[in-house]
Amino acid sequence: MTRSRIAAFLLAAAVATAAVAAPAPNPYQAAVDGAWERYRTLDEGKNADYIPALAKVDSKLFGVALVTIDGKSFNKGDVEARFSIQSISKVFTLASVLETYGAQAVLEKLGVDATGQVFNSIVAIEQMKGKEMNPFVNPGAIAATSLVEGATAEEKWARIVAIHEAFAGRKLDIDEEVYRSEAATNDRNQAIAKLMRAYGRLYFDPAASTDVYTRQCSISVNASDLAVMAATLANGGRNPVTGKQVIASANVSRILAVMATAGLYDDSGIWLYEVGLPAKSGVGGGIIAVAPGRFGIAVFSPPLDAAGNSVRAQKAIRDISAALRANPYDVKVGKP
Ligand code: GLU
Repeated sequence: MTRSRIAAFLLAAAVATAAVAAPAPNPYQAAVDGAWERYRTLDEGKNADYIPALAKVDSKLFGVALVTIDGKSFNKGDVEARFSIQSISKVFTLASVLETYGAQAVLEKLGVDATGQVFNSIVAIEQMKGKEMNPFVNPGAIAATSLVEGATAEEKWARIVAIHEAFAGRKLDIDEEVYRSEAATNDRNQAIAKLMRAYGRLYFDPAASTDVYTRQCSISVNASDLAVMAATLANGGRNPVTGKQVIASANVSRILAVMATAGLYDDSGIWLYEVGLPAKSGVGGGIIAVAPGRFGIAVFSPPLDAAGNSVRAQKAIRDISAALRANPYDVKVGKP
């Protein structure tokens, strides 16, 4: 070989080595980045406005967060932006009630079937005489809050905050503006609580229960927090970041079942059909989804569709789940 051919050979070898040495893109980060990029400019849906403070939230905010069961985080966009947890809190209050009373009591005192009605329906209460209200529609959710262990509203509230903090792995505050805004306009939830009481299906004072429920909906979180909370469910109730066993693993499958059947309001069936992951949305624009034994996802984007679910969050989670082959019902036959 001539000197120049040797040099060319060495250069080619160096380039090949460099190419091999370049780290392969992490599949989790690639899935998160891809979904965020794809929907970054999507401008569909509308902020919730029946709680006046929610209408004022910047509808451009968009954060995507994923946490694996070994505690690794993959983020893109506005994952630190704070927003009110809203109905996603129903998951963690249910967890508290399951821990205290067990699965049978939840079945009997609250019910776990989908009502087939909108989340704040009074018709559903009348039809079922307050029974069979699952904990993710407002009648069942306010009943769940009323059932939280504690002799006073303060004790119940302390327990609700504690379980949210244990799932998130950090101290959480209330969004006072959202709390005041909803407390001033929640006549419908007050009526729901009274009606549930009339049927003997509320387990504490109706006004106090509605107030604690409104507070729990105002807990301020970001997408990173919610991804850790979802990952704790994916990890059998053990927070993968703090290492703490937050709830018994036997209770996780009960929670995921209610998320699967009633997590996305009236579109829960469509969601399960298309994505297959247990999930829960809130009118603040957050959605969490759980890939059992693998990871949790949380997406925040305030504009909602007609069913009340964040438009961009649904699309982002659907794509991430598909990219990571996370649908537990999607069994691939043949070679892996
Ligand atoms: N605090 C809200 C309500 O009760 C929560 C609704 C939701 O996120 O679905 O109306």
